[in-house]
Amino acid sequence: MRILLTGGTVVSMDPAVGDLERGDVLIEDGVIAEVAAAIEAPDAEVIDATDRIVMPGFVDTHRHTWQTAFRGIGADWTFPEWAVAMHRTLKPHYRPEDVYLGTLIGRLEALHSGVTTMLDWFHCAQGPEHADAGVAALRDAPGRSVFCHGAGWGTTGPVDAEIRRVRSALPGDGLVTMAFGLRGAEDTSMDTVAEELKLAAELGLRTSLHVETEGVRRPVADLHEHGLLRDTTTFVHVNGIGDDELRMLADAGASVSISPDVELKMGFGWPMTGRMLAAGLRPTLSIDDVPSVGGDMFSTMRTTYVVQRGLDGGLNSRDLLEFATVDGAHALGLAARTGSLTPGKDADVILLRTDDLTVFPVTDPAGTIVAAGHPGLVDTVLVAGRVVKRDGVLVDTDLRALRTRLVESRDRVAAAAGVPLDGTWRPRPKTA
Ligand SMILES: [Zn+2]
Repeated sequence: MRILLTGGTVVSMDPAVGDLERGDVLIEDGVIAEVAAAIEAPDAEVIDATDRIVMPGFVDTHRHTWQTAFRGIGADWTFPEWAVAMHRTLKPHYRPEDVYLGTLIGRLEALHSGVTTMLDWFHCAQGPEHADAGVAALRDAPGRSVFCHGAGWGTTGPVDAEIRRVRSALPGDGLVTMAFGLRGAEDTSMDTVAEELKLAAELGLRTSLHVETEGVRRPVADLHEHGLLRDTTTFVHVNGIGDDELRMLADAGASVSISPDVELKMGFGWPMTGRMLAAGLRPTLSIDDVPSVGGDMFSTMRTTYVVQRGLDGGLNSRDLLEFATVDGAHALGLAARTGSLTPGKDADVILLRTDDLTVFPVTDPAGTIVAAGHPGLVDTVLVAGRVVKRDGVLVDTDLRALRTRLVESRDRVAAAAGVPLDGTWRPRPKTA
């Protein structure tokens, strides 16, 4: 199985390969075999990449995909309103089938937008059937996905058996792998965090942890004092922590995930991009919640970029592309497999149109992707060498049928929760 991408503008995100104004990419058995100005491979299937940027697919390091049926409903929500709406009002009415549809269509949308690798931070774990539905959906979507099992979200009970159960079903290094979504450092005891980290280490799982702080508490310093910072943990958001805490994360080799649109809109504070870089951390990017924000990496890169430029004039477009590709792959423990067009890595590749009027003529490819890119440019997507989107269309996907089922799911969950879908609903958090 050989595929040759010919005549594209290559943005490899690998310094050793560099960028090619016109180049070819040879894929053999799902793996990048060669990137060069011209490659002879007479027996290969040819995909013409003329008028396309050829680059690695994006890596989203944190998204709660089960919520997809309620996309856009919370454009104006604050974080407390989101928590009331999604966790306390709608989630109790989610059946496994609803988890499956939301996760499948959310994952397909991410692929459609060029996100070849995504960590699905699953916090709709009412029961094992719900988790199984999430895993099944990720397996049915042809992307590279990490099922990050937040089995303990919203509970104080033990999760040991459930994590072991799912781990035994997701043992390998296939396209869908597993991580462990820890309970929030601010919501649980250090003993619980320690127990969960011990379990993760035993099972060989990376972990992810939400930290949202108003600067009053020092969750990272607490973890540091208890010896609980790990190089296998990704810290999500972390707005408001101290510069010394950022250095503790860097010293521990931990990774970080920024969701800039959610953080700014929902009241978490400024994305910590510049301060992370100053502390020696490479930020990664994530979407978080599609009820509140759009699901594509282009706008996420752009928000991250313009906010930091506005704050201190820092960053350039190449930084953003690194956050959204190689740095994200590193945070997920997948840097050996994906994140750049490096011979030997799996062929997770996207082709972006340069002849679209919204970007034409493209003189600076990297700058154009960050400053003006959008999902409408995503022409072709390959995951591990398999073409999952071609000529702007997801292959082998009956979107019409899936859309119908997702709307039915949304309407059923909303009706069961007593939520109107006419734009009048405003979830009301209890004021203490
Ligand atoms: Zn989150």
